[in-house]
Amino acid sequence: MTNDFDVVVIGAGPSGSVAAARLMQDGFTVLVLEKMEFPRFVIGESLLPQCMNYLEAVDLLSSVDRLGFQIKTGVAFFHNNQVCDFLFKERFSEGWDYTFQVKRAEFDHALIKETERKGAVVEFGATVTNVVTSEEQQIVTYTNKEETEKSIRTRFVMDASGYGRVLPRMFDMEVPVSSPPRGAIFSHVQDTKRSTKASENIFVFDFNNNTSWIWSIPFSDGTASVGVVGNTDFIIECGENGGEKFKELVDNFPGLNGRFKGEEYIFEPKQILNYAVSVKKMYGTGFVLCGNSTEFLDPIFSSGVTLAIASGYEAADLVVKHLDGKPVDWENDYEKRIKHGIDVFRSYVEAWYNGDLHTIFFVDEGSFEFKTQICSVLAGYVWDQTNPFAKKHKTVLKTLAKVIKIRDGE
Ligand SMILES: Cc1cc2nc3c(=O)[nH]c(=O)nc-3n(C[C@H](O)[C@H](O)[C@H](O)COP(=O)(O)OP(=O)(O)OC[C@H]3O[C@@H](n4cnc5c(N)ncnc54)[C@H](O)[C@@H]3O)c2cc1C
Repeated sequence: MTNDFDVVVIGAGPSGSVAAARLMQDGFTVLVLEKMEFPRFVIGESLLPQCMNYLEAVDLLSSVDRLGFQIKTGVAFFHNNQVCDFLFKERFSEGWDYTFQVKRAEFDHALIKETERKGAVVEFGATVTNVVTSEEQQIVTYTNKEETEKSIRTRFVMDASGYGRVLPRMFDMEVPVSSPPRGAIFSHVQDTKRSTKASENIFVFDFNNNTSWIWSIPFSDGTASVGVVGNTDFIIECGENGGEKFKELVDNFPGLNGRFKGEEYIFEPKQILNYAVSVKKMYGTGFVLCGNSTEFLDPIFSSGVTLAIASGYEAADLVVKHLDGKPVDWENDYEKRIKHGIDVFRSYVEAWYNGDLHTIFFVDEGSFEFKTQICSVLAGYVWDQTNPFAKKHKTVLKTLAKVIKIRDGE
């Protein structure tokens, strides 16, 4: 049975690029179908050190390294007048101690261009509209930029379509998540008053009784990304009248100390609502999901791109095995592994919104135990089985918060 390509990858975000690059390391032919023209905007600008390992493994790191992105060495959380600063060099697990804050248009473009240079065929303006799967062959139908419908025969399909969630929607695989519906509103602004302290890292400030938070992410060109996350109703309110309430928050939020007051907006605020969603299964006959096509939870710990890259790599690694005619245990070697990574962050996200992390983070610096272990998770090293704060994520945060409360007589 003839095939046009060994693998079709849907989507040219970081997950799709890394997947394609991994497949080509073993000599497979890859077609990446991307609905947009690149460079294109997408939110998700603060990376985690763990993703550097994967970018390096597929030889894509130098293509982004040379672009001079803002180096990120940690993350700082603010609550009232307290600050909890994590520096990645003070982490428990082996690995990178820095990463980047990136404008995704440039980052994603650099990754896919390098992937194309390595030999992938990449078609932009190509929207996948139908996929028919079977044991022997998969048929992917798409509309190209001339609005012509085309069909491609392939041995395997990798869905890295991010928020497009092509196969989860087509195959009725989506399931809701239990977290309350949240949204975000954000923009890029000039950052001319940036202090040295704010020069590298993402700052996160909570407010509204810990139902909302603001991020500031500095870029190397002197601009910054600023955004607010909160319950959907609040975000809709922030977006009314051209984002009046959002801009007011950015101007006057006490923790930001007037950093963005009067600064020029690079684009009008954009909104994204109810992004959290999961899937019944991450794989099926002739296909696998990776990146945001699997699950996206919450942006609080900047885990999205790292999980997208990790799952793109791990899935492609198994696709290589499958195409080589070897048996693949998708359940244990892929779904369980990726789910573990997502679930570690889920425990931290839940602990953030229910206040346990506040109890842990905002103690006196001298009495913050296990900071290096928690720092490892915040650097993305969620698969380090020697770290109890990754391995036993479901119980360890709850227990630690309880112990601190008892100790402090709360
Ligand atoms: C408010 C907010 C803030 C965030 N902040 C961060 C952060 O600071 N750090 C972080 O790591 N993550 C963050 N994220 C998460 C991040 O946006 C995603 O996890 C990440 O972009 C996922 O990458 P991906 O490669 O899976 O998908 P994407 O980057 O979304 O790429 C998917 C590609 O598929 C294409 N596509 C879609 N449908 C089709 C189709 N039918 N045919 C062909 N192509 C298609 C799309 O055009 C797109 O280019 C944030 C998310 C939100 C909502």
